[in-house]
Amino acid sequence: MIVAIDGPAASGKSTTAKMVAKKLKMTYLDTGAMYRAVTLALLRSNTDLDDYDSVCQVVDELELDIFDQGAKTVVRLDGEDVSQAIRSMPVTENVSAVSAMKYVREAMVEIQRNIGKKTNCVVEGRDIGTVVFPDAEFKIFMVADVKIRAERRLKELHEMGDDQSLQEVMADLKRRDKKDSTRVHSPLQKAGDAIEIDTSMLSIDQQVEKVEKFINLVREKNNK
Ligand code: C5P
Repeated sequence: MIVAIDGPAASGKSTTAKMVAKKLKMTYLDTGAMYRAVTLALLRSNTDLDDYDSVCQVVDELELDIFDQGAKTVVRLDGEDVSQAIRSMPVTENVSAVSAMKYVREAMVEIQRNIGKKTNCVVEGRDIGTVVFPDAEFKIFMVADVKIRAERRLKELHEMGDDQSLQEVMADLKRRDKKDSTRVHSPLQKAGDAIEIDTSMLSIDQQVEKVEKFINLVREKNNK
């Protein structure tokens, strides 16, 4: 069973996906964290992002692990815990360029599908309902007003000790959304059979409740 949750940055996907996974005793998979880890590996190795062959080589050689540990997702790159490092500014600034590359996407999608084969998952990302798991039974596309998304992200960043301004965060979200939704390979888009949830005016509990209601409705319909 796969619950696919897609949508732009800071639309409420992570918090909702984590809580739904916990309630339904499913694995939570943050695919954005995987693209961030690849980006970190490329930055650390000083790879020229325009040099496709070098990028492919780094992707082939990296050892990526992602798993839930209590309420936290742990990401390991070549054995090192990089869960914090993948949230840094340089990674955030470069991740959309890295995730637009076909080779990178194919490598990550393979890992994601393998995880999905082994266990029931709530998977969040940009292309989960369209490309990674097009046959997922439950597809949700989350959206929210860009200012509200920026305020949410700002709060998270401040909690992590990062003091960016609202304008900076909003500019980053807009830039990433544009790049993610206009790229050639697997652009951010709503799957035709996904339901849309606008979280602008919703509390976290309300978001989770909406997703749960949707899952129960689909289950009832399929059991008839
Ligand atoms: O979810 P998060 O904002 O951490 O994702 C970081 C970036 O990873 C996105 O801006 C996008 O470029 C990329 N991404 C992607 N496909 C996914 C998940 C994330 O291209 N399934």
